[in-house]
Amino acid sequence: MLRTLLSAALLASVPGTHAPGAEPADLVLRNAVVHTMDAARPRAEAIAIRGSHILAVGSDEDMESLVGPETRVRDLAGHSVVPGFDDSHAHLLGIGFARLDVDLVGTVDYAEVVERVAAAARQREPGEWIRGRGWHEEKWTRSAPGAVRGFPTHVALSRVSPDNPVVLTRADGHAVLVNAKAMEVMGITRQTPTPEGGEIIHDAEGNPTGLFVDNATGLVRPGPRTDTETRRALRLAMEECLEKGVTSLTDAGATVKILDLYRALASRGELRIRVYAMAAGLETLQALGAPEVGLGGGFLTIRSVKAFADGALGSRGAALLEPYADDPGNRGLLVTPAERLLETAREALRRGFQMGTHAIGDRANRIVLDVYEQAMAEHPGATDPRFRIEHAQILDEKDIPRFGRLGVLAAMQGIHCTSDRPWASQRLGPARVAEGAYAWRKLLETGARVLNGTDAPVEDLSPLENFYATVTRQDPSGQPPGGFDPDQRLTREEALRTMTLEPAYGGFEENEKGSIEPGKVADLVVLSQDILSVPDDALLKTRVLATIVDGRIRYESPHPAAGLR
Ligand SMILES: [Zn+2]
Repeated sequence: MLRTLLSAALLASVPGTHAPGAEPADLVLRNAVVHTMDAARPRAEAIAIRGSHILAVGSDEDMESLVGPETRVRDLAGHSVVPGFDDSHAHLLGIGFARLDVDLVGTVDYAEVVERVAAAARQREPGEWIRGRGWHEEKWTRSAPGAVRGFPTHVALSRVSPDNPVVLTRADGHAVLVNAKAMEVMGITRQTPTPEGGEIIHDAEGNPTGLFVDNATGLVRPGPRTDTETRRALRLAMEECLEKGVTSLTDAGATVKILDLYRALASRGELRIRVYAMAAGLETLQALGAPEVGLGGGFLTIRSVKAFADGALGSRGAALLEPYADDPGNRGLLVTPAERLLETAREALRRGFQMGTHAIGDRANRIVLDVYEQAMAEHPGATDPRFRIEHAQILDEKDIPRFGRLGVLAAMQGIHCTSDRPWASQRLGPARVAEGAYAWRKLLETGARVLNGTDAPVEDLSPLENFYATVTRQDPSGQPPGGFDPDQRLTREEALRTMTLEPAYGGFEENEKGSIEPGKVADLVVLSQDILSVPDDALLKTRVLATIVDGRIRYESPHPAAGLR
């Protein structure tokens, strides 16, 4: 019978023979299936940790000499341990804001909407904006009391949130409902003229009901997030990371203000996961001095700059070499001139920064590779730039080997493939998809380093969902059978590597983290089952039982037993 991680019996110290002279470990994890990602010893049973670092990796027996009177020994009852997951491309604050905002998807009536806003209002300071999204009056079981033209009015909202302006966006994004405070703050009265292409709904007395349609929604722009909100969002985001086993994250685009916040938190030891921050664009880079590496005891590094080459595939903004299959004549959008990308690359190389450029379409990817190639040729002294392309979703066959050849890292998202692929073939047609869309294996085979991430909050932050998508290329229900373009699936080992060691390499930290070996930081995740051996359809049942960062257990599942069945 499996025992639970937290059961008191497991916390008891195992009497050890502590070798005289050797310093004992603070924490020993034993009786586990450990996947180290260390080629010299891929599998182990036990890990000893002293302070923030890994002291020893080996068998249960090997650890006995490291157990002293103060050593905590945990029997993991056969559960699995892997290096802490490292999300190579996400948006930390975005993850937090998504949690701060009121989620109105699935509300059954207006009363429920009002209730959720009331709960949020109780946690806000007066004056802070409350944002919500996802209501849809046609899906409610009954119409809102006093509805005007079918739409709810501000009255109930204003009652539960008299001091906080509220803006609630309809599910389709084409209408907002606001409360009286929001209208007051934005100076909206019965005299406010209706903008062209928009509509302000009024009641029988001619007062605005709080409902604004299309171009009129522009009248109620919420102010910027307050510092309090931003800090709260960051705290929530870090909590979510720990709950999901993410111990490091690359923030793909942080402004000067956010970098200041990171530095402040790092200096106070309040970053709970390691952050590798990419400065948002050339302006942010120019505001920085030299790269800042390992601030706050290894929790913050700022040595990368983020740029954008094109838009997204869904909205046909990805820049393609040939027109969209479902929109002939449209080849997508380049959002930054190549000259400016080149200027950014030069500046980065001159100052010892890495560059990561968002490129989705094959035209954008080619331009970025050209820019990188030219800039690197001009700066032969920069011997290890590790420039990256963020997403690298659609590639011309000729460009695939250039990643490996130029040493450009492909920072991809396994989960984007399975969420986009159902409509990606309409945009691209089958030939282009087969040639180079989400071409993970082709990149690996031509010598590229592939980093995995989630782009959260665009996708869920869950590394386990991302791992599943990367190895199966199926949606959570197992569709399509065999997966999208099954020859591009990664093996379990390869996928785990793209989520641990490779992102560490992407942040120049592969000697400090990314695998479980003596001398590296103790960033580990305890999983309820072995993700390298359970069947595909069982992968999504894996639970994170504990997350250890810098040698400290920072998260433990409150319901460990639920993951053990
Ligand atoms: Zn992103």
